[in-house]
Amino acid sequence: MNATAVIREWVNGETFLYLGRSYRLSLVSDQDGDLKLKEGRFCLSRSLIDQGGETAARKAFEAFYCAKGEKRVRDRVAYFAPKVGVTPSGTAVKDLGYRWASCSKDNLLRFHWKCMMAPSTIIDYMVVHELCHMHQRNHTEAFWNEVDKVMPDYRERKEWLRRHGAGLDL
Ligand SMILES: [Zn+2]
Repeated sequence: MNATAVIREWVNGETFLYLGRSYRLSLVSDQDGDLKLKEGRFCLSRSLIDQGGETAARKAFEAFYCAKGEKRVRDRVAYFAPKVGVTPSGTAVKDLGYRWASCSKDNLLRFHWKCMMAPSTIIDYMVVHELCHMHQRNHTEAFWNEVDKVMPDYRERKEWLRRHGAGLDL
C-alpha cells in the first residue's frame, strides 16, 4: 500500500511531480516570478523561502499547478465533452480537500490542483469520470458503462490512482 505521507524539506534536489514526471528543485537568487519550470527543474525564488518559509513555498507550487491545471483541464474537457455527449457549464482548478474532482448540480467541473501531479492519462480519466457524472450522478454500473464507452481502459487508470494517489501531494 502506498500510504506514506509526502514529507518535504524545501532544499535543493528535493523532487516534485508534474504530469507524472519528477523534477528537482533549485533555489535561485535572481528570478522574476516565484516559481518556474525551466530546463527540467523547478526554480523557486530563494528569497521567497527566506521570507515566507514553507507556507510561501507551498503557495507558489499550488499557484503553479492551478495555473497549468486551468488550461489543461479546459483543453481536455473540450476534447472529451463531445465524446461523452455533454456540455459542462465551466471548469475550475482549486483545493478540493480530500476529493480529486467534483461535478456540481449546475455542471461545473472542479479539479484539485494535485491532479496536475498525475500523468496526463490519469488526468484524462478524471476528466472523463466527471463528465460522465453529467449522465449519471452516482457510481452505479450505468455510470461505469458511460465511462467505458469513452475510455475502455479506464480500469487500469482508476487502479493507478488508487495505488499512487497518496503520493500526489506537496
Ligand atoms: Zn465519481
